[in-house]
Amino acid sequence: MLFTPGPTAVPPEVRDIMAQPQPNPDLDPTFGETYAQLTADLQTVYNTDHDIVVLGGEGILGLEAAVASIVEPGDRVLCISNGRYGDGFADFVTAYGGEPTLISAPYDSGYDLDAIENAVAAAAADGAPFTAATMVHCETPTGTLNDLTPVLELLKEHTILSIVDAVSSVGGTPVPTDRIDICLGGSQKCFSAPPGLTTAAISDHAWEQMEKRNPTSLYTNFLPWKDVSEGFPYTHLDVLVSALAVAVDRIVTEGVENVYDRHTEAADRCRERGSELRLPLYPDTERSSPTVTAFYLPGNATSIQKEVAESEEIVLATGLGELEDDILRIGHMGYNADVSKVDQVMDAIANIIE
Ligand SMILES: *Cc1c(COP(=O)(O)O)cnc(C)c1O
Repeated sequence: MLFTPGPTAVPPEVRDIMAQPQPNPDLDPTFGETYAQLTADLQTVYNTDHDIVVLGGEGILGLEAAVASIVEPGDRVLCISNGRYGDGFADFVTAYGGEPTLISAPYDSGYDLDAIENAVAAAAADGAPFTAATMVHCETPTGTLNDLTPVLELLKEHTILSIVDAVSSVGGTPVPTDRIDICLGGSQKCFSAPPGLTTAAISDHAWEQMEKRNPTSLYTNFLPWKDVSEGFPYTHLDVLVSALAVAVDRIVTEGVENVYDRHTEAADRCRERGSELRLPLYPDTERSSPTVTAFYLPGNATSIQKEVAESEEIVLATGLGELEDDILRIGHMGYNADVSKVDQVMDAIANIIE
């Protein structure tokens, strides 16, 4: 039983379509229809009328392509962080010749709005304002859901373009996509399709910025995907697109609000059961994401993970980096946002630790 915060378990209908013969993505119009239906359904899930693009490549491709499509050498970029993915954006900015300013809050805290405001004001006063800002909606490694709205409002006032990693939140909890210039998702998280596709909702402002500049890269670039009505820039990943189309159709059919409720119920059950077992949350409840629960078990996470895998055949995740042995993560997202499955997982953990 796969219960990690990505890749998530893939439902049978999605696995079935992958075994079917696939259309030639360059020649068969049915592929174009599937892609168009997929992007329309993704607009429903993202709750936006921004354009959607779906690129062949794991979620990381989207993060890199967003930076590569927007950042020009010498551009100043504000990287807002309280986790590993937030910090990592600064590396992409550097790789494409931009100059990142990393405002990093402790991993168990929310974003530091004062520090963000001060950095924006100081850059403007220096005559070298930020052109873009990056941030992460759900920091999956710590199970933290960030409140983006106050930050996005501030960025809008200063016409700073926003790039948001919503890979582990979109499809599981509401994302303020209409306020975001580039909002990134991945097939293998709340959509519960296999890894291999990245999704992005892109504002008109972001397209205008891309059109104004010289791309520093060709493959990690959204612009060739803006208009695919006459065909795709290169061969699309037919099996994965068919799989994601079925996966996202399941979400739309269930109803996006119902899907969010299912995530909240699964998260609540996970935390209730955790509290009965005296497993503290990392961070506190207020910031815990409905898509993933991180229990704080200093020095014990990897051994519990191992025992649950060996004796119960359930795969959970630990923390990452310095927190590897301190955090045990349960990925109740997508197909796994299910109270009875959560009970099964928590029973297994109880068997190990009691
Ligand atoms: C999963 C994830 C990604 C994609 O990267 P992986 O290599 O699949 O980990 C990007 N951002 C976040 C927040 C994620 O959870």
